[in-house]
Amino acid sequence: VLGIKEHFENKKKKANDSNIDQTFNDISEDIQATRRSLPIYKTRNDLLRMIRENQVIIVIGETGSGKTTQLAQYLFEDGYCQNNKIVGCTQPRRVAAMSVATRVAHEIGVEVGKEVGYSIRFEDVTSECTKLKFLTDGILLRESLVDSELDRYSCIIMDEAHERSLNTDILLGIFKALLVRRRDLKLIITSATLSASKFSQFFRGAPHFKIPGRTFPVQTIYSKHTVGDYVHAAVTEAVRIHVSTDIKSGDILIFMTGQEDIEATADCIKEKLLEVFSKKRKYTEDIDENDFEIFPIYSALPSDIQNRIFQDLHGIKRKIVISTNIAETSLTIDGIRYVIDSGYSKIKVYNPKIGLDSLVMAPISIASSNQRSGRAGRTAPGTAYRLYTEETMREDMYTQTIPEIQRTNLSNTLLLLKSLNITDVFNFSFLDPPPIQTLLASMYELWFIGAIDNSGNLSSLGKTMSKFPLPPSLSKILLISSKNGCSQEMLIIVSMLSVPNIFNRPKEQQQESDTARSRFFVPESDHLTLLNVFSQWKSNRYSHLWCTKHFLNYRSLKRANDIRIQLSKVMKKLDIPLTSSGSDWDVIRKCICSGFSHQAAKLSGLGKYIHLKTGMDVHLHPTSALFGLGDLPPYVVYHELLMTNKEYISCVTAVDPFWLVDFGPFLYDLKRIGSSSNAGHKLYGYDTEEEDSGEVDELDLRIKSV
Ligand code: ADP
Ligand code: MG
Repeated sequence: VLGIKEHFENKKKKANDSNIDQTFNDISEDIQATRRSLPIYKTRNDLLRMIRENQVIIVIGETGSGKTTQLAQYLFEDGYCQNNKIVGCTQPRRVAAMSVATRVAHEIGVEVGKEVGYSIRFEDVTSECTKLKFLTDGILLRESLVDSELDRYSCIIMDEAHERSLNTDILLGIFKALLVRRRDLKLIITSATLSASKFSQFFRGAPHFKIPGRTFPVQTIYSKHTVGDYVHAAVTEAVRIHVSTDIKSGDILIFMTGQEDIEATADCIKEKLLEVFSKKRKYTEDIDENDFEIFPIYSALPSDIQNRIFQDLHGIKRKIVISTNIAETSLTIDGIRYVIDSGYSKIKVYNPKIGLDSLVMAPISIASSNQRSGRAGRTAPGTAYRLYTEETMREDMYTQTIPEIQRTNLSNTLLLLKSLNITDVFNFSFLDPPPIQTLLASMYELWFIGAIDNSGNLSSLGKTMSKFPLPPSLSKILLISSKNGCSQEMLIIVSMLSVPNIFNRPKEQQQESDTARSRFFVPESDHLTLLNVFSQWKSNRYSHLWCTKHFLNYRSLKRANDIRIQLSKVMKKLDIPLTSSGSDWDVIRKCICSGFSHQAAKLSGLGKYIHLKTGMDVHLHPTSALFGLGDLPPYVVYHELLMTNKEYISCVTAVDPFWLVDFGPFLYDLKRIGSSSNAGHKLYGYDTEEEDSGEVDELDLRIKSV
């Protein structure tokens, strides 16, 4: 069998014999040498033999050993793409799927989207000729909805399985049954850590293959005192390293939790270093202000910008990479010698008791902490600075990260399982079962929005909902909007909700950007505000310049538009009419209420609401358009609950309490509580007939006791 590179080169030669570019060959020679230098290369033949002899194997290897970029290529070379079959490689993160596909395509010398492609939600960059497909685990799960046998694949690599993402866990359970039906399908599970025996047990003693590591010792230095402000501490440490060591001694990698603290850290480091340089300049001329370059990495960052981290700066500048835990295992940046670890990451946490999903900052696990430190010792011995004390580590950190399946809302997943005809979700083969309360709460949510019936079976609404790559509540409002004549508007809203950061808020121009933002406000609704932004952008011919002028994120809007087009294709395929309500936007609010009536809150004070279902205090997010109203509306539904220093509801829409009763008759009850002519709040959108008579009954929405 030809190597994948030769295979494509032959094709190229045939296509255009005279046009073989010498530089391409030089670069390619370099790449081939790099490929051969990876630890996995030495074990290639043994590895392929073990794959031939077993249906499932677990590959363990240090990060950077070549698992992600090489395995799929080896499988191609070993003939797994013959007879129109393809090799799939799943990633828990979209960013990783894109970046790895780009890298592998580059190694082979083909364009991404041709022989090597990727597929992530709302973005399919593959074609007829794709042989190696990198995809998120969520996409593979969706593919199994269409083809439950996954017939196109000869082999699936589940990469980064140690991350135990929700979708990976569900896929493992599905594979357990599928592998019995498809004896010819190979499954390769890769893991960076030794927690692999769990996978092995799950697949009846599947063998391990260990790629011998090549790592250097890393000295770990703990903080002596508890760190209050980890951004400040990280900045101090990074600046100290940069000015006190030779830049050739290696690059710096800082672990933060998300976009906000990453950007704050980046700004502070820049500022501090410039300060240091200007002080030094008093004593010496020999100062180079450009001897460092900062690379932030987080998921909302466009992939081309992310890929800049792989640039070779030729020892002229030091890389200072500031990343979320994506750089923990899924991205390997060579040349890192210093790691600064904040000790935190953002994780999704679900509280089934109150039915709330929230993103919280939490201490990482000891396993993560070791993984992070290890990044300093890939190419030479290194140092890891932990911004926490040894005691904190012993007392506050779990040994392993709790798998996502045990700390997340499962309504999305359960809907998917139900549509895969897995009716008894309680007895699904879970690697680690989720808490029963979570299963029950998620089932309740599905039932509440009408996706399943009283006996737990998928309703026809639920069946249609599962066809959309969206959370159940969003697919529900889309379907309801179609019946109510406003699906075109709802498509826009749903798409806008599926992208991050519509509004730019640069630090130097906060006031200007806030004013610009407020010009788009539709005071009854943040959802309608998003619709308004999009409509105006459209009237301005989707202009980039217009976005910049109004502090809007052009990329996000463009992506939202792509998503809208994708979703409208799904609607067309399902024969769901695309309808428009024109200027009547009240009906849109009502439709939004239909999917979010379980996420309703009632005004309880200045900017304060009380969560109806749980009685919890929540606050209107300061960016909400509702602050544009003179009085805040008495009842709202929200899209998201955020927990930072307070509980905030964000993306909020004013609703009529009658709608809540309409959509949640099992949950809500309206009670008249005596008459009053001026006290209390007026019901939002409530028919004002009674008001004219001067006798308004104050109504109160109550939770029915269940
Ligand atoms: P593993 O999956 O075992 O962690 P990878 O296959 O991701 O290892 O990485 C193998 C090597 O390829 C590493 O040295 C890494 O730095 C390099 N590499 C991966 N992606 C890129 C890229 N986009 N550009 C340059 N080098 C890359
Ligand atoms: Mg990898």
